[in-house]
Amino acid sequence: MYKIYLKSGKEESLRRFHPWVFSGAISRVEGKVQEGDLVDIYTSQNEFIARGHYQIGSIMVRVLTFDEQEAIDASFWKNRLHEAYQKRQAIGIASYPGNNTFRLVHGEGDNLPGLVIDIYNRTAVMQAHSAGMHYQRMEIAQTLMEVMDGKIDHIYYKSETTLPYKADLGPENGFLIGGSKDNIAVEYGLQFHIDWLKGQKTGFFVDQRENRALLERYSKGRSVLNMFCYTGGFSVYAMRGGALQVDSVDSSAKAIELTKKNVALNFPDDKRHNAYAEDAFKFLDEMEKDKYDLIILDPPAFAKHRDALRNALQGYRRINAKAFEKIRHGGILFTFSCSQAVNKDQFRTSVFTAAAASGRKVSILHQLTQPADHPVNIYHPEGEYLKGLVLYVE
Ligand code: SAH
Repeated sequence: MYKIYLKSGKEESLRRFHPWVFSGAISRVEGKVQEGDLVDIYTSQNEFIARGHYQIGSIMVRVLTFDEQEAIDASFWKNRLHEAYQKRQAIGIASYPGNNTFRLVHGEGDNLPGLVIDIYNRTAVMQAHSAGMHYQRMEIAQTLMEVMDGKIDHIYYKSETTLPYKADLGPENGFLIGGSKDNIAVEYGLQFHIDWLKGQKTGFFVDQRENRALLERYSKGRSVLNMFCYTGGFSVYAMRGGALQVDSVDSSAKAIELTKKNVALNFPDDKRHNAYAEDAFKFLDEMEKDKYDLIILDPPAFAKHRDALRNALQGYRRINAKAFEKIRHGGILFTFSCSQAVNKDQFRTSVFTAAAASGRKVSILHQLTQPADHPVNIYHPEGEYLKGLVLYVE
């Protein structure tokens, strides 16, 4: 096992179980360690403190265990995956009637940094964010079949865009186990085509499930604009909730196609829905005032990195300002940010600034976040990334 020694005093965050070791905390690396190797971390006092996957970059180790006795072997993967599955059973989502879509493994939130697994009916889509997880993908896949005990038949690996590019791992997306063409999953009784081949993330934004369900309750009798619709998730819930009319907008023509397909799958020949492949800012600029009384703004992560923060906050302010300017009196705005680099307060300040510019009375009805199958490790607050506000606009 390779050994990494920390600088004096740099073990504090690990003592509090934070699962990352930054390059600045390291004093010495023993041996020719390669990206993806397992390493043991020692304090400057030569005490074992953690074990994890080595990687190159500002985060140099992602911790898998703080227990010296716990080897990273077959029983490690089995225990961790089993714990994750048990958590989903405790939440109730793993066997919720009329639902077969949920996140089974959420990285640090499940003490498996660098690994994401989403379940879509009988297929698991697995995504590695670190070389270490990539090398162990087959072992993880086989163990997952065992842990899920007959509940899944196929495992699709989708890591071409998530692995560190410089590691040069040449990952190929494809089935590790099985191989299904049936890609329809059910979320709270609604059906969705999941494009795990080409879609964003693992093919679907599983993280908005509870927020979509909340939106359904507000939809009756309203005219809805679903901005940044992607697969049309919010649109389909709005239709089931009794919306008068639903317009979906996304700048990607493929997203619009997918939205139309998903609406047709659940509500064939329903004339209430229209979809437009257009830029959000242009659409909001040109749309007439008072047309909608329920607007969803779920933009892509405007800030992928810290340095982009200022522009991102400006983006949130601009987009929300347009919604406040145009939404009908008594309207409801669902507004989100999924940028990890933007915290709850910063997001709220952007929305506050946009509201103030419109001069309208605005109250907060709900403060939203990611669902329970995307848990946040209490020692890793960075894991909280999804923020949302539901606002009543007078
Ligand atoms: N609300 C969706 C997820 C949104 S992902 C859901 O629940 O599944 C963000 C989407 O914004 C992507 O589909 C992307 O194509 C779209 N997008 C990015 N920039 C855009 C822009 N300037 N105007 C409109 N859509 C944009």
